[in-house]
Amino acid sequence: MLTNDQLSQWDRDTFFHPSTHLAQHARGESANRIIKTASGVYIEDRDGNRMLDAFAGLYCVNVGYGRPEIAEAIADQAKELAYYHSYVGHGTEASITLAKMVVDRAPANMSKVYFGLGGSDANETNIKLVWYINNVLGRPQKKKIISRWRGYHGSGLITGSLTGLGLFHAKFDLPLAGILHTEAPYYYRRPDLNMSEADFTAHCASELEAMIEREGADTIAAFIAEPLLGTGGIVPPPAGYWAAIQPILKKHDIILIADEVVTGFGRLGTMFGSAHYDIEPDIITIAKGLTSAYAPLSGSIISDKLWKVLEEGTDTYGPFGHGWTYSAHPIGAAAGVANLKLIDSLGLVDNAGITGAYLNTTMEAALADHPHVGEVRGEGMLCSVELVRDRDTRTFFDAGDKFAARVVAAMLKRGVIARAMPQGDIIGFAPPLCLTKSEADTIVSATVDALNEVSA
Ligand code: PMP
Repeated sequence: MLTNDQLSQWDRDTFFHPSTHLAQHARGESANRIIKTASGVYIEDRDGNRMLDAFAGLYCVNVGYGRPEIAEAIADQAKELAYYHSYVGHGTEASITLAKMVVDRAPANMSKVYFGLGGSDANETNIKLVWYINNVLGRPQKKKIISRWRGYHGSGLITGSLTGLGLFHAKFDLPLAGILHTEAPYYYRRPDLNMSEADFTAHCASELEAMIEREGADTIAAFIAEPLLGTGGIVPPPAGYWAAIQPILKKHDIILIADEVVTGFGRLGTMFGSAHYDIEPDIITIAKGLTSAYAPLSGSIISDKLWKVLEEGTDTYGPFGHGWTYSAHPIGAAAGVANLKLIDSLGLVDNAGITGAYLNTTMEAALADHPHVGEVRGEGMLCSVELVRDRDTRTFFDAGDKFAARVVAAMLKRGVIARAMPQGDIIGFAPPLCLTKSEADTIVSATVDALNEVSA
């Protein structure tokens, strides 16, 4: 068996890691954790450390680790048919079954699902769909896309542009032209506005409408948003946000893309986050929870109304020129079918609502009086803790303090994995949806202990 030292050497010599400080890693200054195995909500590294993964990988392992039902479905599929493409009308039992299962679970106006590999390529597909549709509809100038500061939609060229986090733009020459960002629906971070929450909602809506009017509604094709800001800080929208935003989009004939890569398949206690917030999207992005990350697979679910335009387009212009070799990959599809069956049979959507609420209320109660906790917030099986230098004046830490990163490191010593969110001192939690109350207690007590240690 290879030793950890050998693997670490190879890692530094050959492995270009995503979202990593490359120089520090190459110098061996950052952790090189080599994960070996996992079961339920626990992962284990090659040194034998067992850790409660309170972020479900990258909020994707919804059903938890080590499910034999999915592993067996993948193995069976690989033996019977590891691959065939889905171009020019080809399908497999797994891909067709999964399409049916996804559309059956989606909002009623949804009609078809296009399968990709990950959330980024699905959003890439979505933007191409929107542009294609507006060309077919004879309005080629209606192409700009509005996204939100702190939104996360991927890290490709278009999707990295849609993402509203500086780290994903800096030095990459992003965002590309035609991608605009409007106010993040992040009430806690705007004390400077000195507004009630209701006024802040109205402010977000009027900022959006002002942008549309400034640019010209005839140039704006779509608005893309997560039902609740995820990577931007796990921030539920201010009250009434979606009710205020949607009429503006309708009025200006702007397509609504709900990016449900995190919220799809149960995380908010509903099958889709759109149901939770009464959102009526035209397109829904799915990935992560679609297979619980047992195999890469994503999708773009599109409404019946838009589908009709696509049909009209191919009748006029010929076959739809957009496809990936691995669209609807049978192994991903087999994983997806087994995964969605498990979500149902284990009642994980309900558990996300119930145990998620328990995690949130327990966390809130435990940290209510902590001088460095500005806000505890969440929805379903998502929770975050916003850390501040001074809670009364709402003064934030300097980025250089790396306060949240230090708390997360102190939690890791206690065997719990949380995530220091990329912008601001925010600790994020997004455990597998099968979390139990006693596992939630473990997360909360590790957070309190770690925070006390670092604060001291
Ligand atoms: N959209 C959202 C809301 C996401 O959270 C993510 C990934 N965290 C993506 C898109 C991109 O997905 P992927 O990393 O699979 O490309």
